[in-house]
Amino acid sequence: MKTQQSSIPIFQRDVIQKIRHHLLAWYEISQRDLPWRKTKNPYSIWVSEVMLQQTRVITAIPYFERFMEAFPNVEALAKSGSQKVLKLWEGLGYYARARNLHKACQMIVSEYGGNIPETYENFRQLPGVGDYIACAVTSIAFGKVRGAADANVKRVIARLLCLDLPVNTTSSNAVFQREAQALVSRKDPGAFNQAMMELGALVCSPSEPSCTKCPISKFCTAFSAGKTAELPRRLPKKKVPTHHIAVGVIQHGKKLLITKRKPDGLLGGLWEFPGGKVEKKEGADQACVREIFEETGLRVKNCEFLTRIRHAYTHFRIEMDVFMCSGISGKICLDGPVDYRWVTREQLSDFPFPKANLKFIPLIPDNK
Ligand code: SF4
Repeated sequence: MKTQQSSIPIFQRDVIQKIRHHLLAWYEISQRDLPWRKTKNPYSIWVSEVMLQQTRVITAIPYFERFMEAFPNVEALAKSGSQKVLKLWEGLGYYARARNLHKACQMIVSEYGGNIPETYENFRQLPGVGDYIACAVTSIAFGKVRGAADANVKRVIARLLCLDLPVNTTSSNAVFQREAQALVSRKDPGAFNQAMMELGALVCSPSEPSCTKCPISKFCTAFSAGKTAELPRRLPKKKVPTHHIAVGVIQHGKKLLITKRKPDGLLGGLWEFPGGKVEKKEGADQACVREIFEETGLRVKNCEFLTRIRHAYTHFRIEMDVFMCSGISGKICLDGPVDYRWVTREQLSDFPFPKANLKFIPLIPDNK
């Protein structure tokens, strides 16, 4: 092995060939039987890669199957309404992924005649498509020689090359991307990228890699140096704040009031029950009454505690106190939400809600 000026080790060409050969042979017999691996259809591969960002395989599978049934191709997704798209994404989180995929398909129909662009450069221009997705999709679907470095692949690379770089910072992305590009098979880049991802998922796991079962252990620098437990290096996560939220389920006869969030930003386009942050020195029930008035213009007289929900987002957590509210007065005048509906309890399932709301919806009593 030789060492680059930057002190990052790189392998000799013949060693890289052996790594490719051993990894591809292992992948051939060890790969999991996943629905998106049964096809070379670029749209299916793209949908799966988008879903798998920030989501575990086991969680993504049923979402992928429902999504593909509803939207089997680019045209079907492009012509769907955004609410149907969000409903099928409900609970998967990171809803910008769904909104961007939808927009990208509309762009493909209008600018590419419905054909997914095959080059990395054109595909990379689509909404929501970053380096990783562009490399993964164009290599798997179109055989482009692009190394794809997701979290699993970065971990394998960090250990294989003994890279003392944190894997969880954007500043190290370029290095991992460069190494992935150096390693990727020129003959079968799609299978090689998937093999690297699969090795990271099944063998080179974060805490205890199964090095004795690893097809490339004899080339692994961390393994030979006894450093697999130290690598990859991660910068410590920042402590995330917890926000106290109050939410009101407003009942009026058999109907409940739901409001729609503005189309962009966190949870954009989803429906929810009105509410917001509890201010300092304010009770959650007072905050609930105040937030309902500020967001909807309605006054509520009765506010009865229903439950407390805890939920974690990427950069913060929430503790959400939920109240059943009734005795309304005033006229609806929205400030914040962009739409509202009065719906029955049964009709709630027609609308896409954030996961935190889905946690308490089953607890809402039937007002018969
Ligand atoms: Fe990962 Fe161990 Fe294989 Fe190295 S030998 S790539 S640490 S599983």
